[in-house]
Amino acid sequence: MSDTDFSYPWFANLQALLDGQYVADKLPHAILLTGETYSGKLVFAIQLAKRFLCDETKALAAVTPTPCNDCASCHLFEAGTHPDFSHVAPQDSKQIKIDQVRGLIAWVATTSQRNGLKVAIVDPAEQMNHQSANALLKCLEEPSGNTFIILVSSRSGSLLPTIRSRCQQYAIGLPERSQALQWLHAALPNRDDYELLLDIAGGLPLAVTMQLNDDYLASRKVVVEQLAKLCGNQTTALKSVAEVQKIEIEDFLDICQSIFSDAVRYDATKDINAIRNSDIADSIVQIQNHTSVDFLIAAYNRSCADLRIVRSTSNPNKQQLLEALWIDLRSGNPHVISQFGL
Ligand SMILES: [Zn+2]
Repeated sequence: MSDTDFSYPWFANLQALLDGQYVADKLPHAILLTGETYSGKLVFAIQLAKRFLCDETKALAAVTPTPCNDCASCHLFEAGTHPDFSHVAPQDSKQIKIDQVRGLIAWVATTSQRNGLKVAIVDPAEQMNHQSANALLKCLEEPSGNTFIILVSSRSGSLLPTIRSRCQQYAIGLPERSQALQWLHAALPNRDDYELLLDIAGGLPLAVTMQLNDDYLASRKVVVEQLAKLCGNQTTALKSVAEVQKIEIEDFLDICQSIFSDAVRYDATKDINAIRNSDIADSIVQIQNHTSVDFLIAAYNRSCADLRIVRSTSNPNKQQLLEALWIDLRSGNPHVISQFGL
């Protein structure tokens, strides 16, 4: 099975909606597909492209629910040489550059080489710089009759409003909890802590399988311990940084975000069951006890902002980012914390 063949049960409703619109010739040609990191939105977009282009779809006059993997189109798609499919993604930097968008515009203007349909994916769309986004606008304004352009984004709010307004927006949402748990049972048959894992992952089963490895789970314990000490004035910022600096920066910030989110939730409810990271709930309560809600909200927002920096910058200065965050948290001052990292 190739990477493009995964279909997750929580895709079913959106898949049925888009397939129905396609068959009725009502699917908009500019599509904005949104969803959180690890929602599976790129997999969905790629599979949509492969299914639309599959020769089975043409033969059936309806969209094949899964790619046949046996036709000429599916073979070309898997080989990465399908002439009617274009995937625009950042190359050597984390930005989608103007030359790439110009290439896409030129490709859109060409005629389909197979069954009359072309599909392009731009991912992550928020990584287009201003110039690239403006260039793409023209393409979205004058959609070609046989080309679908799918923009994939986890931060659609940071796209130009003019881009958003030209696209029909669809969201990959969270699966039903029972559906997610059932899927996790099958995906990770040797574990027995599915409820906890799904809570830590914010309800996203793919975050469990792709992000929550043993290192990540161990790192949470280190981070919450250090945060509890930091907020309780039991350590210095630099001493504490030394304890956490080996953790991969994206995991580290994701963990901070999750811990502060729990602390804010606990502050509001005083209900320990509201804490998603239930196995480290005692330390999260300590953090809440030592701080104010303004501090917790500022710390949560700062973790999110720093995470965005790490995910969207090609070479963030990780050490500087980490030290700045830790020193600002140690200050205990929400206004200091609110100033974004680098
Ligand atoms: Zn096929």
